[in-house]
Amino acid sequence: MVEAMNSRTGIGMTSARTRGRMVERLREQGIRDEVVLAAMGEVPRHLFVDQALESRAYEDTALPIGFGQTISNPYIVARMAELARHGEAGPGRPLGRVLEIGLGCGYQAAVLAKLAREVVSLDRIAQLVGKTRVRLRELRINNVRPKHGDGMHGAKDFAPFDAIVIAAAFGEVPQELLSQLADGARLVMPLGHAAQTLCVIERNGDQFTERHLEAVKFVPLLPGVA
Ligand code: SAH
Repeated sequence: MVEAMNSRTGIGMTSARTRGRMVERLREQGIRDEVVLAAMGEVPRHLFVDQALESRAYEDTALPIGFGQTISNPYIVARMAELARHGEAGPGRPLGRVLEIGLGCGYQAAVLAKLAREVVSLDRIAQLVGKTRVRLRELRINNVRPKHGDGMHGAKDFAPFDAIVIAAAFGEVPQELLSQLADGARLVMPLGHAAQTLCVIERNGDQFTERHLEAVKFVPLLPGVA
């Protein structure tokens, strides 16, 4: 597997250039936070998808990652990271511990890991967690903790979080997660079922303010584990 990874990094130069173009596109699409743009420029997205899809890794499109799930398109990954960092109008703030729900192939977690001290990431599919854990180890990404579990309940043992990012859509804000937000922190999630909007909830003391942004399309957040 290490060998397989090494042979795949053979396209390294090309992919660095392709990533540069992706970052320019993100800028045109309105991503403002330079720290997020730098992170997007560094994480080798092609190593998070199957080799057969590698050549499409930097297109602005969602791609299948097995188990009926998809990796989100680069724009939405950058957008959620920017919102988590409060960086919509410019530089955001550095993050301590972040909770991601929906580890999937680990790409978004790897981007968040560039912006945070530590990322705890849950997925309900055990096999996906196992596969992604190996991938993150091979890529020497050491500040992501993949965990198997139902993200609906968050991760109380690791709370409070400086940001919570949910990578799957749900019809309401999971209330248990709000109590796991640190003061001043934000939860970013796709809200809704058939029609979804990107939603940001910010905690200030006991006050929670909710904002609804653009329309998005995510796979559903499902109950229980598999
Ligand atoms: N961020 C991922 C994309 C995730 S797709 C990436 O970069 O690849 C959404 C993921 O959410 C899927 O892997 C799915 O298994 C997971 N998921 C759905 N419901 C969940 C739940 N209740 N708890 C944890 N993970 C869940």
